[in-house]
Amino acid sequence: MTTCTPAQGNATGTFHIASSLAAALDALNDYGPEGAAFAGGTWIMRAPIRHQPLKGCYVAIGKIPELTEIRIGPDAIEIGAAVTHAALASALADLPEFAVLTAAAGRSANPAVRAMATIGGNLATSDFSAADCVPALLCLDAQIEVSSRSGHERMSLEAFLTQRSALAPGRLLTKIVVPRSRHKTAHARLTLRKAGDYPVAIVSLSLDVDATNHVRAARIAIGSVETVARRWERLETALLDRLLDPSRAADMAADLADEFAGRDSVEAPPWYRVSVLPGLVRRATATALGA
Ligand SMILES: Cc1cc2nc3c(=O)[nH]c(=O)nc-3n(C[C@H](O)[C@H](O)[C@H](O)COP(=O)(O)OP(=O)(O)OC[C@H]3O[C@@H](n4cnc5c(N)ncnc54)[C@H](O)[C@@H]3O)c2cc1C
Repeated sequence: MTTCTPAQGNATGTFHIASSLAAALDALNDYGPEGAAFAGGTWIMRAPIRHQPLKGCYVAIGKIPELTEIRIGPDAIEIGAAVTHAALASALADLPEFAVLTAAAGRSANPAVRAMATIGGNLATSDFSAADCVPALLCLDAQIEVSSRSGHERMSLEAFLTQRSALAPGRLLTKIVVPRSRHKTAHARLTLRKAGDYPVAIVSLSLDVDATNHVRAARIAIGSVETVARRWERLETALLDRLLDPSRAADMAADLADEFAGRDSVEAPPWYRVSVLPGLVRRATATALGA
């Protein structure tokens, strides 16, 4: 039994470095609601800036071998939850079908943060609307593995997003499984300044395009515009069976963008986040086409 000594602001709280997945799950289970995973720490370290309390007990998961592995198989890739953004971008750099994820992981934040921030932390942080890997993995139809002492559970990323804020104590996101395809993919993000900013809006897309550049299937996800990233199914349908043309795609996006209610924040007003979507769609489709 691992005991937790909750403390105000974690000044004297517990920090448990887990050497195996079983040890991490045991510690999280024992700590209950007082405990949480500590992955890269890049979100947790800014809790005081957000006026959020720290947990009394953290379980560091960054040294657990199976959580830091990337397996590239013939049908799918499996990414351990504690893989950093930098390691992920480097591992996928030669796989064009994952260009969207390589760009999401390889261009977020800045090099120092990318060396620490993990993909699991990016997906599990329920109040982080601007996470780059969430829309990228939505458009890639990713599955999420959640583990606890009683076993593993597989679910779609969409399902995980609906339940992550209420993830029971003792449960850990352990793996992301992404199917392989021949799709053309791209990630377009807008920041107000060049480096370090959270993106105002993100368009991630995965398109199955035939030899004549007609769209046979489309998955498009929008991040940072609303509180939680989601697919843009009306735009996906509008693109089907049409010749993929970045300007036409941007025009369709402009016609359909009124379904988004932008979120308000100090960085940008709601209308602005929505108004930049057509331009990002144009940029993402052009990138996917290699134009
Ligand atoms: C200045 C700055 C700019 C940034 N800009 C961007 C950006 O533009 N785009 C972007 O995507 N990211 C950005 N980030 C990084 C962002 O903080 C991380 O991507 C991510 O959200 C947190 O990952 P982490 O591994 O550091 O998580 P942590 O800080 O360790 O944890 C965050 C939360 O997730 C929980 N958690 C972590 N791992 C798991 C798990 N495996 N299972 C269950 N719960 C878990 C923790 O308990 C905690 O509640 C930025 C960070 C900084 C400091």
